[in-house]
Amino acid sequence: MSSPSSEASVLDLVREDLRAFAGYKSARTDTVDGQIWLNANESQRANRADVDGNLRRYPQPQPEALRARLAEVYGVRAEQLLIGRGSDEAIDLLVRALCVAGQDAIAIAPPVFGMYAVCARLQNARILEAPLRDPSADGAMWSPDLDALRALALEGGAKIVFLCSPGNPTGERLALADIAAFADAVRGRALVVVDEAYIEFAEEDGADASSATTLLHGRDNIAVLRTLSKLHALAGARIGCVIADPTLIDVLRRCQAPYPVPAPCAELALRALAPEALAEAQARVREVRAECARLYAALRVTPGVRRVYPGAGNFLLARFDDAEAAYRRLLAAGVVVRDMRAAPQLGDALRISIGTPDENAAVVAALNALENAA
Ligand SMILES: *Cc1c(COP(=O)(O)O)cnc(C)c1O
Repeated sequence: MSSPSSEASVLDLVREDLRAFAGYKSARTDTVDGQIWLNANESQRANRADVDGNLRRYPQPQPEALRARLAEVYGVRAEQLLIGRGSDEAIDLLVRALCVAGQDAIAIAPPVFGMYAVCARLQNARILEAPLRDPSADGAMWSPDLDALRALALEGGAKIVFLCSPGNPTGERLALADIAAFADAVRGRALVVVDEAYIEFAEEDGADASSATTLLHGRDNIAVLRTLSKLHALAGARIGCVIADPTLIDVLRRCQAPYPVPAPCAELALRALAPEALAEAQARVREVRAECARLYAALRVTPGVRRVYPGAGNFLLARFDDAEAAYRRLLAAGVVVRDMRAAPQLGDALRISIGTPDENAAVVAALNALENAA
């Protein structure tokens, strides 16, 4: 006999008014065949700028070849995966599909990526916050207080808990066992969204860190966000995806725009996932990891740097004696970094993306010049 909780479906977490919502029925929804297509009011003649003449047609809502390839690369089934305009779109879809405006909440552990709160605001969902813990030991990583986050989520009616691993801007990687236990503890009450925008850069015991997609088997209240914007160097193409239970993917698809993936972007993304391109991406990972370690070591001995945190992504977070002066000095040297001072707990911090070896050397040189000038 199964217990009531084991019968809980992820569909129970979806807004009741959307559970049977069919969404827009586009000209590409029906699978029909023909030679003469006159069903979508498309142009019968191509634009001269459209050299191959392929763009006069609306694209597939979920480009099949790309979906299959992404599924292969991420080690999941195609029906578990929804492609969107960056993982940003997935965040928005999840919040809108699960949170009843003016009633439900999301839970986060700030400082964290700002889009979770932005999407919650737009949906008029409450935002519950359990602060991320700043480690006292030098060289240690930030960590979410998962007990506090769980209690907050359960007591406050959170439909979604966002976990970011590696965390942006703090750089920590979460253990999969902790994510699994967390998801099991909130099952039937909340969906756990694991944002893995930077997971490819993360290491675990000297090997590539595993994705939370490995937790999906037997768990329908985990959704994983992946993107081509960071490792795959395609931020401008806006291709990201959410990987989750097919039932949830279906719901999200029905809430999404009719043709969310521009055809040129889908084609480019497919080429960017070819074996040779993936091998180059792997080489970039090695370079970023090596440069990240070098920059970390250099910043630790840079005067004026109060603290630098180890980071599992392609960036480092550092505290400064005078963050304003450091920011300005970098800017004067032509180096633009992310000012984090408005974020909670980060009043003296800057986030520095890992650049090329030359770019990172310029960062270190500019910061050392700051001290000499002072
Ligand atoms: C960059 C980033 C994203 C956005 O990715 P897109 O796919 O470009 O929308 C998502 N989450 C985090 C934590 C990020 O830092």
